[in-house]
Amino acid sequence: IPACKAPSYRLNDGNHMPRFGFGTWLGLDKDELPIPVMDDSVQKAVELAIDAGYRHIDTASSYDDEDQVGRAVNRKIAEGAVKREDLYITTKLWNDKHAREAVVPALRESLHKLNLTYVDLYLIHFPVATKTKAYKPFVKIDYLETWQGMVEAKVLGLAKSIGVCNFNLTQMERLWTSSDVKPAVLQIETNLNIQQPELREYCHNNDIAVMGYTPFGSLFPSRARPDAPPPRVDDPSLQAIAQKYNKTVPQVVLRYLFELGVTPIPKSVTKSRIEGNLDIFNFQLDEFDRQHLQTYHSNYRVVDVKFFSESTYYPF
Ligand code: NDP
Repeated sequence: IPACKAPSYRLNDGNHMPRFGFGTWLGLDKDELPIPVMDDSVQKAVELAIDAGYRHIDTASSYDDEDQVGRAVNRKIAEGAVKREDLYITTKLWNDKHAREAVVPALRESLHKLNLTYVDLYLIHFPVATKTKAYKPFVKIDYLETWQGMVEAKVLGLAKSIGVCNFNLTQMERLWTSSDVKPAVLQIETNLNIQQPELREYCHNNDIAVMGYTPFGSLFPSRARPDAPPPRVDDPSLQAIAQKYNKTVPQVVLRYLFELGVTPIPKSVTKSRIEGNLDIFNFQLDEFDRQHLQTYHSNYRVVDVKFFSESTYYPF
């Protein structure tokens, strides 16, 4: 395997997941509304990512870009650059499809947009259920009911593995103890400011893989809110660490998350960054640097979804 390719991880259901992925969410604007997908930038980015050696792509029905991810993936398969079985495609169930009988149809709709016959991983996006696609009003559907629908999707072979995002420890414990089919993956925000020690330990002890979203957190000034704690990318101590390994600060951050046992899924639509972000499999941080990076943990979230805070199932 060339130095740039990620190793894979055996999930608790026997399937394998590449331990590094590619994010495809364009993010929220200043008013916390989704940035609309206007052009084919996501498709181009995914094609660049596959060319660069990414094999694990993360999308969601709410990102409104499953069609673009699908076009990129199918083009690369048609070109002979990759085979379907070499790729690991994740998508997510949105909050308005939490009724048990709504889950399989929602996945079928995603598969139709992706133009695929199965996804490798299907995730419940949030434990919160809503009436419509909008952030409100909430409906009281227990995520345990939703999970039954996820299990049906797995039994049908429409999703090889199933898991959840944004569940807190109590919710994870409840899901684990109440279900025969265990979640294979927990996807949560993981970056220097929120290193998730409790959830990582819980998942480690129960053989659940942790996927880390928003891996850069507030590292880049463009994303950092005024109240965001340090560090930024120009932090002298981070720059010194990067120099020591002949790497960039973003690479050091991704490597640190990887060494914590997390599967980071950085997003970029920029060719040089797409390539650079993946190039973290030819060095290792020493204990001293790891300890320094640990000090930035402050439990600060970028994705706090305050607009869900009135829901019974709000996780944070
Ligand atoms: P990231 O931490 O991946 O940051 C993305 C931002 O960083 C973009 O603005 C990108 O710019 C910039 N960037 C990327 N690499 C570099 C670099 N090397 N140098 C400088 N800037 C860089 O944030 P995301 O929130 O996008 O998280 C990653 C993925 O996680 C999402 O895309 C999505 O797939 C998933 N996610 C899941 C959530 C969930 O609830 N389950 C919630 C949030 C995210 P540019 O693109 O312009 O290059």
